[in-house]
Amino acid sequence: MKKVLILEDEVNIRSFVVINLKRAGYHAIEAGTGEEALDRLRDNPDIGVAILDIMLPDIDGFEVCRRIRATNKQIGIIMLTARTQEMDKITGLMTGADDYVTKPFSPAELTARIDALYRRLGGDMSADSELLAQGPFVMNTRNHTLEKSGSRVRLTQVEYAILKLFMQNPGRALSREEILSAVWGRDYEGELKIVDVNIRRLRIKIEDDTANPTYITTVWGFGYKWGA
Ligand code: CA
Repeated sequence: MKKVLILEDEVNIRSFVVINLKRAGYHAIEAGTGEEALDRLRDNPDIGVAILDIMLPDIDGFEVCRRIRATNKQIGIIMLTARTQEMDKITGLMTGADDYVTKPFSPAELTARIDALYRRLGGDMSADSELLAQGPFVMNTRNHTLEKSGSRVRLTQVEYAILKLFMQNPGRALSREEILSAVWGRDYEGELKIVDVNIRRLRIKIEDDTANPTYITTVWGFGYKWGA
């Protein structure tokens, strides 16, 4: 059974999420503090998606996210953000989260996001076992790895999916809507900003000079273009 970690210190919200995860066919693993979440993850390396609340009694959700990402690039991470905290979304994504859900959220919305992350995690392992090579980059679409000039670049699943889309469409301007729908799914109702933040993160990892990106270039008022 697919395992999902829910880190939330408010018992009511946690139980609400657990009930809905079970209903959607997931095995829910609960944690009420950041340290507890990190313990659960150590005990259950097969957890595919983690949902992290931000305000917690010990370490905050951003720090939990950072610590998870330090050792685990594969797991999908969804932050639970408060409606008024616009900065939470950006901070969460910059610390390595793949997505965020704003409180109060509907069970359908949350499970749709988890389903999307799990789909990407499973990937299309046998469908395309090939190497995409452009400029200094070599992407192995079978084991989801990227090398730049022979050195491994560690990407999250979302970053990988965006870069794969670019490498499959070299030289073509892709609109932010197109990227959002290809990477997050057609039914995704999040904001376009999530694309920009992920591109920002991706540039930090792959560009020679982040201030003057040459691989992922901005197409003003439209989106981005891959030009390696
Ligand atoms: Ca909380």
